[in-house]
Amino acid sequence: MRFISLTWTDGLPQTEAILVVRTVHEAILQARQQWPVRGNIIEVPEIKPFGYWVLQGAEPDQVYGSMEWYINKSFDQESQQLLGRRYLQLVLDEPWQHQTPHYDLAAVHQPLFDEVDQHGVFGLAVRGRAAVLSVYPLHALDEGPRRYRVLRRLVAHYLGQVMGIPIPGWREPAQCLSPCAMRPANSLAEWVERVEEETRVRALYCRDCQRELSARLASNHFGIN
Ligand SMILES: [Zn+2]
Repeated sequence: MRFISLTWTDGLPQTEAILVVRTVHEAILQARQQWPVRGNIIEVPEIKPFGYWVLQGAEPDQVYGSMEWYINKSFDQESQQLLGRRYLQLVLDEPWQHQTPHYDLAAVHQPLFDEVDQHGVFGLAVRGRAAVLSVYPLHALDEGPRRYRVLRRLVAHYLGQVMGIPIPGWREPAQCLSPCAMRPANSLAEWVERVEEETRVRALYCRDCQRELSARLASNHFGIN
């Protein structure tokens, strides 16, 4: 069964790192509520908050030896942005992905750039595998409950992509359009607007997305994804 690796950079405020971990727990618990209380044998994946990690005994700059190495390899000095696709490729190529495949979610404080679409982004994902999100654009908002709610949604959104929801072919349209963290948003104004709409719905995800997330967790338990 694949575990969920959570990592973040050294510039992420501690309150935000805690919120990342809490939101992932909350999302998994919500999906678990889809299962019967009695007789359920499906286990939820282990959540491993590695943070700003260094491999035990690793030399500075050791290849795949630390989060710092991944960031240095994908940070573009000229534009002062993190190249999201380069970062994700490093995650997919890392030796332990082959030994112990896992889900991978990273939160960074640097501005994040999509090299294919050539613009700044809130996050990027390889569906069903890994995602990286940036808290940088959120820092245009005042620190406080509103900013934390946007971050919570951002984490839930990219965790959903890491887990592979919405599942292609399960519904039409393929994107979630309900009040739900999986509904796409492109600008900070849209993220804030979505959060305000969804605050009335207390769950992170809509029923369809919760059901699909629980299906993904079940196939993870049985080792079939
Ligand atoms: Zn949804």
